[in-house]
Amino acid sequence: MTDTDLSAAEMSVPEYAPPKDVPELAPFWDGVGRGELVFPRCRACRRWHWYPGPGCPCGHDDEFEWSAVAGRGVIYSFTIVHRAFLPSGSTPPYAVALVEFEDAPGVRLVTNLVGEGADSPRIGDRVVLSPTVFDTHTLPTFALERDRPVGERHP
Ligand SMILES: [Zn+2]
Repeated sequence: MTDTDLSAAEMSVPEYAPPKDVPELAPFWDGVGRGELVFPRCRACRRWHWYPGPGCPCGHDDEFEWSAVAGRGVIYSFTIVHRAFLPSGSTPPYAVALVEFEDAPGVRLVTNLVGEGADSPRIGDRVVLSPTVFDTHTLPTFALERDRPVGERHP
């Protein structure tokens, strides 16, 4: 194990539970529980939405469908948290990233990075869905793609 591996192993994931009182998000969390990412998409104009809103700017309300994406994305932004801001279950350091998806333009998901290199991500790094499973729930965390050098830019 190298120093880098040790550092990555120390990165944690805040153990927040999915909100059970937000029915609009239930399809998202159900998908995460199955190990996939689903986002709402307008049936009329095919625009992706995140978070779910009351309607689409194209004027078609209540015409959303939840569709799966491949689970591969690119880091749009990130931060390494060294001081916890969540009330419990958060043992820093951990990496928080804003990830966007080639197959769901317009969607940017706030997530945590896990695994090798999670302590030193770069904007533009490719990531892949790597869910973190807790006893009671699963979180949609992401790992840096290992078949590409860290820092390789999205074309
Ligand atoms: Zn629309």
